[in-house]
Amino acid sequence: MSIMDYAIEGYKNVQAKQYIGIFGNPIKHTLSPVIHDTLSKSLGVDERYIPFHITDNLKAAVESAYDEGILGLNITVPYKQEIMPYLVDIDPAAKAIGAVNTLVRTDVGYMGYNTDMPGLAKAIFSEGMELKDSKVVMLGAGGAARAVAYMCLYYGAKRVYIINRTFEKAKSIADDINMEFGKDCIIPLSSRDYKSIPEDRYIFIQCTSVGLHNGDGLPLVDDRGFYQMAECGVDLIYNPAKTPFLQLIEEMGGKAFNGLKMLLYQGIMAYELWNQVEISEELANIVYSELKNTVYSK
Ligand code: NDP
Repeated sequence: MSIMDYAIEGYKNVQAKQYIGIFGNPIKHTLSPVIHDTLSKSLGVDERYIPFHITDNLKAAVESAYDEGILGLNITVPYKQEIMPYLVDIDPAAKAIGAVNTLVRTDVGYMGYNTDMPGLAKAIFSEGMELKDSKVVMLGAGGAARAVAYMCLYYGAKRVYIINRTFEKAKSIADDINMEFGKDCIIPLSSRDYKSIPEDRYIFIQCTSVGLHNGDGLPLVDDRGFYQMAECGVDLIYNPAKTPFLQLIEEMGGKAFNGLKMLLYQGIMAYELWNQVEISEELANIVYSELKNTVYSK
């Protein structure tokens, strides 16, 4: 099967000198083409970004992509872990996080990276927040939370509480990432035990899928008073623009940011790896405006 057979409707006959793209399931609603096609167009590069709908046989799809010259790929749900055995090498941070979202072509196969982690860090820094010596409260312990916990320690956070509905998952992330950095500053908690977090000022990072798309669902900790400790809050979700979590953060006086800048910067970093270019902040802002128009004008 040719890799273009996996392309979603509307992309099967796209013509360009060079192709990049994304593997996922579902994939129809991905916003990533907006990021990458805007970058290529602005830079005058004849390169198109194709969403590939991969329902099974990931290995065969990666092999086709490589054989047919695809320059680079993003990997999204549900393949960020499953892709790992099919790569020739994996960047140490992606290995420690346990998830790959970017494949970069080499002479012998694809190498795996994780740009979600530095993408979120860049988004946080661009809003004027610091992670060095910070204290962080994370809600959620899924795949994205693992990258967030790694990011917190990588950039020097002093203490990180991970609260999750399923305690074992928070504990697994805390154990792995503490061990990776030779520290014990990540503390896992069940959502029932959130009151054991000492009074202080924290960066709150919402990593659960609660509030996704229609904005329904109460935040994992549904206690307004708890959010008084939030200096600011970041939700990885960007649609809706204001989740119930972000509403609570603002109501309790904190600054609130959604996950659209994380999406922007993880994409920009992947594009930089594929094309060996550096994207200016000016161009990043143009792409960000395109993204906002696409997501929020619907
Ligand atoms: P996972 O499915 O791996 O994890 C989901 C998390 O949400 C778990 O902690 C789970 O808890 C929790 N959860 C789900 N439903 C409920 C509920 N009803 N009540 C309480 N907790 C719940 O997802 P990911 O980690 O991959 O993604 C998490 C979010 O981050 C998604 O919304 C995703 O869209 C967003 N994201 C955004 C990115 C961006 O670029 N902006 C990049 C990556 C992710 P439990 O462990 O108990 O099941």
